[in-house]
Amino acid sequence: MSIAGNLARVQEQMRAACRRAGRQPESVQLMAVSKMQSPERIVEAYAAGLRLFGENRVQEFAEKQPALAAAGMFTGRAAASFHLIGPLQSNKAARAAQLFDAIDTVDSLRLAEKLNQIAAAANATLPVLLEIKLSAETSKHGLLPESAELALLLECAPDWPHLQVRGLMTVPPYSENLEAVRPYFRRLRQLRDVLTQQYPRLALDQLSMGMSHDFPVAIEEGSTCTRIGTAIFGTRPSLDTRQE
Ligand SMILES: *Cc1c(COP(=O)(O)O)cnc(C)c1O
Repeated sequence: MSIAGNLARVQEQMRAACRRAGRQPESVQLMAVSKMQSPERIVEAYAAGLRLFGENRVQEFAEKQPALAAAGMFTGRAAASFHLIGPLQSNKAARAAQLFDAIDTVDSLRLAEKLNQIAAAANATLPVLLEIKLSAETSKHGLLPESAELALLLECAPDWPHLQVRGLMTVPPYSENLEAVRPYFRRLRQLRDVLTQQYPRLALDQLSMGMSHDFPVAIEEGSTCTRIGTAIFGTRPSLDTRQE
């Protein structure tokens, strides 16, 4: 199946999930996760109409970005944007802030503070999401919902003018059983609602949740951005030996 064909099918499934949930289709963005995909495949996805992309490694995107720029993906009104959706080490924060339009995986107070300083030095505003760890089985990254660190970060955030905290992101444990995943999505939305009440100076409207196998459920539970790789590009080229 071509990327365009896959995209049409995913979009139809997204619309169906929106109908079931009584939501407007425009309320959910589709992010194409292009990690491990070649620049040629990414340009093909852009030609099929995709404009928002997610990459999970700073170095990998730095290598691919010039070819994408040469293909015209960053010029004009139809410019593509790329978010970092993989873990960010503090020593790569400056490079990431320069390369990406947004960082969707801020997982510590220290990283948030650092990104604000970096954006300030560039006289820019950097949109970010906070990655939340909802269970022991989920990825090792993320702030715990009840943690003092998350509370402190949310208290400080309004005083960091160069960092725009726009919402939350999570990666639930993998399960074929979508009803086992649903509670994680629901919990992230509930957490967002509670934090919105507690921190009225922030506009936490984004909920990045849902991947190829579970995005319909994530949309039913309030996702505003689904991160979809395999269902658009097909199975990723086999994993190599690089470390995160
Ligand atoms: C790889 C990845 C995705 C996409 O996964 P698929 O199952 O291929 O859709 C989404 N989110 C994150 C954080 C990822 O690393």
